[in-house]
Amino acid sequence: MSRLPPDLVIAIDGPVAAGKTTAARLLARRLGYCHIESGAMYRALAWKALKQGSDLSDPVVLVNLLSQTTLELRPTAEGFVVLVDGEDITDVLRSPKMQAAASVLSVHASVREKLVEKQRELGAQGGVVMDGRDIGTVVFPDAAMKFYLTASLDERGRRRFRESSQELGTIETTLEEVAKRDRRDTERVASPLKPAPNAILIDTTLLGPEEVVRQMEAEIHRKFNNSHDISLA
Ligand code: C5P
Repeated sequence: MSRLPPDLVIAIDGPVAAGKTTAARLLARRLGYCHIESGAMYRALAWKALKQGSDLSDPVVLVNLLSQTTLELRPTAEGFVVLVDGEDITDVLRSPKMQAAASVLSVHASVREKLVEKQRELGAQGGVVMDGRDIGTVVFPDAAMKFYLTASLDERGRRRFRESSQELGTIETTLEEVAKRDRRDTERVASPLKPAPNAILIDTTLLGPEEVVRQMEAEIHRKFNNSHDISLA
């Protein structure tokens, strides 16, 4: 791999089950970068809100709750663990219930503002691969490398079903849930999911994670091998 600018942030956005998190984790490992899954922050807040019985539709309550919460993403050899008020809740956050609740509370602009602040702090030094819905458009609009991953709804539904079949019921209900989250994420007023104008699009419908990362590495290589910036790195 070419020499990369020391403050490089790689933004990866896309809809649910497009393969963002797996690709981001693998790419970060290859580059010796830190992987930050921004969705884990929305899920962590959802976990705390559900635990406290807070109203997910009330942004004032949620921002207040966030101000009283210590939220930490601690890097590990495998990726990272999520600590809320010192408690490791990494595994709980993977449940469909947390995903759905995160999608509900992420529509609030004031909640997003607070989490975006944290994401910017975490990425400030560079050497980071961050995945989410608004990383290339809002969190790091100046990121030098942006990817937008997508896949057909059917394929994304199948992936989600394989991951969490027992909890979500049938393949049909899983597909409905994925479509519902797509609608909520793309139609919300605050930072809707969409590709950044300069994002590189990768359709992962027929690709495994290794191939996705191979394409990303090729794009990074192409950009920085031909780039003027590289001599400054
Ligand atoms: O990425 P993940 O599926 O874990 O995210 C859960 C939910 O959090 C998403 O459906 C989305 O509504 C929200 N989210 C967001 N912006 C991000 C990351 C996640 O709105 N940067």
